[in-house]
Amino acid sequence: MTAVSEVVLPITFESLGLAAPILEAIKAAGYTEPTPVQARAVPEAIKGRDLLVSSQTGSGKTAAFMLPALQKLMVQHETPGRGPRILVLTPTRELAVQVTKAADTYGRNMRVKTLSVVGGMPYPLQNRMLKNGVDILVATPGRMLDQMNSGRIDLSRLQFLVLDEADRMLDMGFKDDLEAILAKVPKTRQTMLFSATIEPSIVRLASSFLHDPLRIAVDTAQTRHVNIEQRLHFADDMGHKNRLLESILGQPDMLQAIVFTSTKRHADQLAQDLHGKGHSAAAMHGDMHQGARNRTLQALRRGGLKVLVATDVAARGIDVQGISHVINYDLPMQAEDYVHRIGRTGRAGRNGIAISFASSRDSHLVRDIERLTTQKIEVSVIEGLEPKMRTFSKPATRNTRPGGGKSSYGKPGGGNSGAPGRREGFSGYAKRDGRPAARSPARTSPYPK
Ligand code: AMP
Repeated sequence: MTAVSEVVLPITFESLGLAAPILEAIKAAGYTEPTPVQARAVPEAIKGRDLLVSSQTGSGKTAAFMLPALQKLMVQHETPGRGPRILVLTPTRELAVQVTKAADTYGRNMRVKTLSVVGGMPYPLQNRMLKNGVDILVATPGRMLDQMNSGRIDLSRLQFLVLDEADRMLDMGFKDDLEAILAKVPKTRQTMLFSATIEPSIVRLASSFLHDPLRIAVDTAQTRHVNIEQRLHFADDMGHKNRLLESILGQPDMLQAIVFTSTKRHADQLAQDLHGKGHSAAAMHGDMHQGARNRTLQALRRGGLKVLVATDVAARGIDVQGISHVINYDLPMQAEDYVHRIGRTGRAGRNGIAISFASSRDSHLVRDIERLTTQKIEVSVIEGLEPKMRTFSKPATRNTRPGGGKSSYGKPGGGNSGAPGRREGFSGYAKRDGRPAARSPARTSPYPK
């Protein structure tokens, strides 16, 4: 009997079934091989299947739906018209802009009209653009429904529908708008639903609007962010948080940071304070006009802005490769938001650092995050800025060492991927300046068992 060794060939873009103009555009974008979500989703979508995909931001999910969408446009529609053939619904304007850009990048060798219809954009301009006809429409649910109700969008030619970050759309209260939109799209269309986590509400949405979907789980919240080093600093109060922040912003590996606060007002205030201290900093939140948001994002992208102080909604979909740090000045109330936040760094296979400040009241938030990601967050201290508070800890038995692995398509990570020295979870151990610190005295855990 001969032993047959299995040879796993690398998956290439050429093997996914994409047309030459799309392959050329991918090459021009500098991509050498598909990310796992692209490798799995693209061929199935080209076959015409509905897909339910759990995939986190940064995994290349936009191309996973945009490439098969463009493939569909390679064949002329049997009925002429001005209405969109592809519709992508996104939770935020920023993500819509991002998706529109991706359509332009991957569709650069095709004659494709892409348009984003989002809130904050003046109606007369939007109406004019819609009148001129569109192939790919990228929209936020509220404005989409608005425009549909005023009869400006003809959906009769729609062939391909994408719900991007569907979990977020539900979180943001778009359920009714989504249902109203989905009720009016042709039954014959193909649908792809993307969500970071597959919660029961997502399964319900999928079972009402997807036809026999194939479930693809490539990158879920549980996927280890091996290319993102996660740290936690205990902070006594706001003054302590500000000093920690100042120190982190001055570290040599700091290129650009997104700092998350829990309120819009605080985002403004903190950006002002940082500006006053000589940092190029700006705020971004949902109360800002679209023009101001775009200008801020441009400045961030061009490197003219070092610190963006943002709220969850505003930062969703930001894809800036220079972001070296994500700093959770306040921890998010929902563990899923932690995953979305830290996904702003370590983009396109780079390494990143995610730092969270936790007060003594935050033990349940940290526990929820660690449960969701199944990763421990390492406790760190900065010399001279040690917390005075009695930090909370977990029983030693839960204190397992985070495992290693490889990033989905990038370099092997730094962070939790097996760096030397004992890496501890969120446990009352602390590391100083990269060296393991002495073990702190045993404490009782406030965690419920
Ligand atoms: P996304 O998850 O769609 O937000 O994509 C995250 C980042 O990965 C974007 O900057 C993309 O340009 C980049 N990207 C997407 N696909 C690939 C690929 N196959 N190879 C390298 N980078 C990619």
